[in-house]
Amino acid sequence: MDFELSPELVQLRDRVAAFIRDEVIPAENGAGDIQVLRDKARQAGIYGPQLPAEYGGLGLGTVAMCVLFEQAGRSLLGPLALHCAAPDEGNMHLLSLYATPEQRERYLRPLVEGKIRSCFAMTEPPPGAGSDPTMLLTRATRVDGGWEINGRKWFATGAEGSAFAIAMVISDPSVPAHKGVSMFLVPTDAPGFRLIRSVPTMGGHGGPGGHGEIDFDHLRVPDSAILGKLGDGFKMAQVRLTPARLTHCMRWMGVAQRSLDIAMAYAREREAFGKKLAQHQSIQWMIADSEIELHASRLMVMQAAWKHERGDDIRHESSICKVFVAEAVNRIIDRAVQICGALGVSTDTPLEHFYREARAFRIYDGPSEVHRMVIARNVLRSKG
Ligand SMILES: Cc1cc2nc3c(=O)[nH]c(=O)nc-3n(C[C@H](O)[C@H](O)[C@H](O)COP(=O)(O)OP(=O)(O)OC[C@H]3O[C@@H](n4cnc5c(N)ncnc54)[C@H](O)[C@@H]3O)c2cc1C
Repeated sequence: MDFELSPELVQLRDRVAAFIRDEVIPAENGAGDIQVLRDKARQAGIYGPQLPAEYGGLGLGTVAMCVLFEQAGRSLLGPLALHCAAPDEGNMHLLSLYATPEQRERYLRPLVEGKIRSCFAMTEPPPGAGSDPTMLLTRATRVDGGWEINGRKWFATGAEGSAFAIAMVISDPSVPAHKGVSMFLVPTDAPGFRLIRSVPTMGGHGGPGGHGEIDFDHLRVPDSAILGKLGDGFKMAQVRLTPARLTHCMRWMGVAQRSLDIAMAYAREREAFGKKLAQHQSIQWMIADSEIELHASRLMVMQAAWKHERGDDIRHESSICKVFVAEAVNRIIDRAVQICGALGVSTDTPLEHFYREARAFRIYDGPSEVHRMVIARNVLRSKG
């Protein structure tokens, strides 16, 4: 594996870094309009790093995405400005692989152009699907001219104000879930689609549209609303979620690096007990531990990205990355808060916001415990 970045990629990385520093971070205090930032990103030639070139993106592969997404992730607004934020990023990826020409025109094109937003509705309130997706309860039943969907979803990020949902629904209850679940493209203005509420959460300012609780109440859709093949929902969910875990890691590494940078800047200036904080060994150890975890995170994600780009199966690696990076990012932000003392819990720096926002990363896209279970199963089966 060659770790050398091409000169073009280094130049692009530096352009993204400059854009985040000069345009995005100054807009963090509520002054930023995402559309304005997106226009500026287009002018800077850095819009849509992962989007196909035919839709105005840069068409980059997974390794290059690692490098750029981390820079974008230095601000929670950065991925929105470059249009590589969840959940639209993962949904665009899924649509680009499976949408019919008609679905591409209706959903993918306006989504890529930033004219509409989307959400992904898999999780259900108990007793439905959460950590265990085979517990899905939402049902699509065959009716004249299409399907009728009934059920309840929640935590669909971005639901409020989105134009459509990609919903994971049982379409054939007579077979096991991995063969009987399908994905449906559901317009949010269809009769029977009801956004009950955006579930209030800690953090919650990481993107527009909240985390929606949705009722599908006798919602009718035609056959043309099926995304991909009927019964392929689980397979496609893996195709969506496996790289999406990596891109989450890439963005969060940017937040972690910025947190460490803020902590180091404070430690270099602030004095206590006759010397700078940075001269105290226990502070140095915290800084070293964060640097070690960031380095390990980068290498891990880069290796998985490299395998993904070659077309290899990276389910195992993406689980490893998800657990390690989600937990490391939380520790790195926590150490940064500690080093900054009272300032760290104030709203004068973004650390407290990062701290609140990062906690959910250990839960969504599979809680750490579930990924550990999967990793252990894989190694027990294959090694020793
Ligand atoms: C901010 C946020 C955004 C989200 N966005 C989306 C979205 O856009 N679309 C969507 O569909 N979902 C979304 N989710 C939902 C998320 O994917 C689920 O929360 C996750 O899959 C876990 O399901 P659950 O919350 O029902 O937890 P439960 O299934 O109730 O599990 C609770 C806890 O039990 C433990 N646990 C579970 N299984 C095991 C096991 N095998 N061994 C040991 N311990 C275990 C874990 O600690 C877990 O956290 C989001 C969640 C959050 C917090």
